[in-house]
Amino acid sequence: MARSYKKPAAQQRIANERIHDLFTQAKVRSSKQPELARRYVALARKIGMKYKVRIPTELRLRFCRQCNAYLLSTNSRVRLRNGMVVVSCLGCKHFRRFRYKC
Ligand SMILES: [Zn+2]
Repeated sequence: MARSYKKPAAQQRIANERIHDLFTQAKVRSSKQPELARRYVALARKIGMKYKVRIPTELRLRFCRQCNAYLLSTNSRVRLRNGMVVVSCLGCKHFRRFRYKC
């Protein structure tokens, strides 16, 4: 089995900072320049994968996994259905479900 390894801590720290910066920028741009926001989300995800840094939970719910769009109330729909929160992306119709009932 392939051995799993971590990237050096310093690199991971920088990667983490970049992910946060990119998401902040994506948030700022998302309403006026959605294409740019999409690019920032894509870059942040790529960095996360390369340096094995997890994208924090609160940010993970904010973008579409399929088209990388930064989700706002204008380009997404949030509905409660059968004990699930259903978040749909209005750009590509991709949706995700989260359980909220225990
Ligand atoms: Zn989408």
